[in-house]
Order: sequence, then C-alpha cells, then structure tokens
Amino acid sequence: MLPLLALTLTRLRIGYSCTMNRRHRVKNRPRKRHVPDIGEGFRKRLVQIFGRESVSDEMEERICASYDATKRSALPDVVVRARNAEQICALMKLCNERLVPVYAQGACTGLVGGAVPFAGGVALDMTRMNRIIEIDRRNLTATVEPGVVTGDLQKEAEKAGLFYPPDPASHEFSTMGGNVAQGAGGLQCVKYGVTREYVLALDVVLPTGELIHTGSLAIKDVTGYDLTALMVGSEGTLGIFTRMVLRLLPLPEDLVTSLCYFRDAEAAMDAVSAIIAAKIVPRAIEFMDDECARSVRGGQDLHIPDHTGAVLLIELDGKRALIEDEMKRCVEICRSCGAFEAFEAYSAEEREKAWDMRRAISPALYKISPGGKINEDVCVPRSELTKLLHGIKEISGKHGVKIACFGHAGDGNVHVNALVDLSDEAEAARGYAAVREVFEKVISLGGTLSGEHGVGVAKQPYLAMQIPEKEMEIMRSIKKLFDPNNILNPNKMFPSQE
Ligand SMILES: Cc1cc2nc3c(=O)[nH]c(=O)nc-3n(C[C@H](O)[C@H](O)[C@H](O)COP(=O)(O)OP(=O)(O)OC[C@H]3O[C@@H](n4cnc5c(N)ncnc54)[C@H](O)[C@@H]3O)c2cc1C
Repeated sequence: MLPLLALTLTRLRIGYSCTMNRRHRVKNRPRKRHVPDIGEGFRKRLVQIFGRESVSDEMEERICASYDATKRSALPDVVVRARNAEQICALMKLCNERLVPVYAQGACTGLVGGAVPFAGGVALDMTRMNRIIEIDRRNLTATVEPGVVTGDLQKEAEKAGLFYPPDPASHEFSTMGGNVAQGAGGLQCVKYGVTREYVLALDVVLPTGELIHTGSLAIKDVTGYDLTALMVGSEGTLGIFTRMVLRLLPLPEDLVTSLCYFRDAEAAMDAVSAIIAAKIVPRAIEFMDDECARSVRGGQDLHIPDHTGAVLLIELDGKRALIEDEMKRCVEICRSCGAFEAFEAYSAEEREKAWDMRRAISPALYKISPGGKINEDVCVPRSELTKLLHGIKEISGKHGVKIACFGHAGDGNVHVNALVDLSDEAEAARGYAAVREVFEKVISLGGTLSGEHGVGVAKQPYLAMQIPEKEMEIMRSIKKLFDPNNILNPNKMFPSQE
C-alpha cells in the first residue's frame, strides 16, 4: 500500500520536501551522477520541440517525476510531455548530440526503480500520448499509443466484445508503454500468458532519434530477427515505444471463482498440480500462505477459518455450464488434496467477496510490518513450488525474519515479502541476507529472480546469480548497438562498464 500511496501523492502533484527527496536520493543513488549538458540553449531547443507548456524545470514537476513505486528517487533536470513520435525523435537526436540522459515515464508504478532518473537529464512523460487509435474487430487487434492506461484498453475492448488479457494488479494506473517495457504479467497469466504474447508490432524511437517499425499486423511473422520480442521487457533501455499493435481475444462469456482453505502450503500446491493434470486450466490460481492468512484475519472482516495454513483462489472463465462443472471438479480435487473448507462464488457479488481476500493481502502485510518489507517476485517451474516454499520457511527460521508468500501459484510466480523494519540497519541486513538465499534457492530450482517486475536497479546486485558473463556480454553489446552513447535510461538492468 505504501508504494501506491507514494505513487498517488506523486501523481496528485503534492510536493514532497526537497530535503526529504535529497535524502532518498543520496541513500538510494546507485552510482555516480555524471553532469548532463543542460544549459539555456538546450532548454530553448526543448521549448521549440514541445512548446512552452510542455517543458518544465519547476521543482514541483521535477519532484513528481523523480519517483516510481519503490522508495527510490532522483530529480530529473527537466520534465517534458510528449504528444507525438516526431517530438520524441527530435528530443532523442538533441539528447544524443548533447549526451543528456532521457527517461521515458508511464505511470511510474514500476517496482524496480526503472523509471527513476538517477543520472538527471530529461524525464519524458508519455501519459499524454493516450489515444486508443483503433479496435479492429475483423483482425482482433488494438492499435494504441503508449500512454493508454491498461484498464482503459481492457474496458474499450470489452465494449467490442473483446478481451485484452494481461492484467497487472496495477492495471487501473499503469500504462501500456510501461507494461510492454516491463513485459508485465498479472493474475490471468496461467491461462492467457503475459504481455509478451499480445504484442504484434511496435513503433520505436531509437536513442539516436530514428523511428523504426518492428513486427507486422500479421499473426504469423518470421521475417528477420524478432525485434518486437527484443523490445518487450527491454525496460526502457533500447527505445521509446510510440505506438503499439496488440492482439485481442473474444471476451469469455462468464466467470466463476472459489476459495479453498488448506492446513498447509504443500497440500495447496498438490491441488494446483492435480487441477492442471486434470486438464483444467483456470484463468487464475492465486495462493496465500499461513503468514498472509494470519495477517488478513487480524485486520479485516473476512472469513478465514482457524488452522488455515494456505488458501487458493481459483477462477475459471468460459461458457457457464462448462465452468460450473469444472469448478465443482476443482473443488473436489482440492478436497481430495486436503482442503477442509471451500467457498464457491457464482454471482458477481460472491466473486467480489472472494477477491476481497486477495486484495487484502498487501495492505494487511503493511499493517503487521509498518517498518516496511522487502518485496520480490521470484518464479519457478510450477512443479518446484513446494520445494521453494519449504526452502523459504527454512531461510526464514535461519535468519529470524518473517517471510510472507503469496502470488500466482498457477504460474509458479511467488511474491516473497520479508517483513522487516527497513529503518533498523541490523534487521534490514538480516532481511536482505534472507532474500539473497531465497534467490539462490530459486536459481537452484531452475527459476528466475523476477517473473514480472524486472531488474531496473533493484535486482542489479543479484543479476549475475542468474545470467552468466557471456550472456551478460551479449546483452551489453545489444544495448551499445541501440544506444552507443548510453543516454536512454542509462545504467539500468545491468551495471554499465563505462
Ligand atoms: C500496486 C501495484 C501492483 C502491481 N502489480 C503488478 C502485476 O501484477 N504484474 C506486473 O507485471 N507488475 C505489477 N506492478 C508493477 C508495474 O505496475 C508494472 O511494471 C507496469 O508495467 C509499469 O507501468 P508504468 O506505466 O507505471 O511504467 P513506469 O513505471 O512509468 O515505467 C516502467 C519502465 O518502462 C519504461 N517505459 C515507460 N513507458 C515507456 C515507453 N513508452 N517506451 C519505452 N519504455 C517505457 C520506463 O522507462 C521504465 O523503465 C505493480 C505495481 C504496483 C504499484
């Protein structure tokens, strides 16, 4: 909740004190800031490109562009608001000549510091490029500008009886540009996959100022290297998206949801495997462990039976008769794996009640750990989830750190929350040591450090645990090829060698 609160304050243009901002910046700054060439001539050029009302170096504006949803922050020197690709081409040409860093920013809901302008320079606000250009019912595609809010695209598609499935929990705020840059996931990925699966074509402004087009409108396209796939998840380091063509699906007819309560996580994970093995693919299978169940029960008016050690939320979509039948089978499977209580939700009102439980987790964790939490989003093959959760319990005991786990069990994607007071140095150090061991466990199980949130600066210190030197070298060469002067979102993802 705190990151969201910070975000809301930021977006509402409420000015934080500069002293506080500077304190954060000194504490969280990842590396030395080089001084960009931002003189009067440069500002004049910006005004020529964007117009006076879309360029600002007022402190309030700079502060508003200094944060994402982590606690990291750093002031840009100037904020510009783009309306079209031509302006962005001109900006990048100028900044490439003058070696001024540029940071594309969507809604700044990122959880890894990706949009934070650590090297100063230009914060490029993309939120005014927010047109849904076309919903094409014949080809089942949407063409949008990058500032479109994910939830707005979903609603617009629904009006046409269509469905844009990727649904990060931030969908009411986050933008499509940010979603594509981060390769965002969400709750429905178990059945529908992540953002990557829905991007057909992109218009991209390169750091050197050229506009390129990747992909095509065709569903099948194997002509040349897949530059679209390279751009998805590139975290704003290779190019700035100015237009995107996205795949849509027919809107599923109906939804049913259930909550199943287990005594332990192992039984819940057995149920997840058994449901999939029964060839039922829910649209969502969300998990919460005993720590989350306890925290939710403590603070909310939600029914959580005594002795609950794990909860599964299962949601199916499709034709009513079929999904009602499949849900009954899911609940039977859960019971046979040890679920001792189940709540089946067939009406919209009942479904909301079931989702209230899932939504309550994050705020409840902040309530029981007001000093903060270290929040990671590791992902392992689904079959390794039980081993991961056992490993996390052991690590938690060894370091004396409470760790609460919840997330997308159907994808093997677990949000690991080390509940520590981050203002207490010793406690924070114990938390980070525990998290490093969780990462080691994840890698040993064939998993990944991040299933959804990306690297940004938050995961940089751990990247070498997963990516060997040769692969890292290839990635650095790609960055250098696209951005020879390292001006677009510099020093994110992997540490620069310069
Ligand atoms: C409460 C909450 C819940 C969340 N839940 C999820 C979740 O379920 N799944 C998930 O995957 N993430 C989740 N996130 C993380 C975040 O919402 C996603 O990473 C989202 O995709 C970021 O979108 P944004 O518009 O806020 O991007 P920003 O934070 O503004 O930017 C993120 C990155 O994208 C780059 N970028 C932005 N626009 C462009 C563009 N036009 N061209 C090129 N690069 C660009 C930026 O430079 C930056 O590196 C959550 C965050 C919060 C606060």
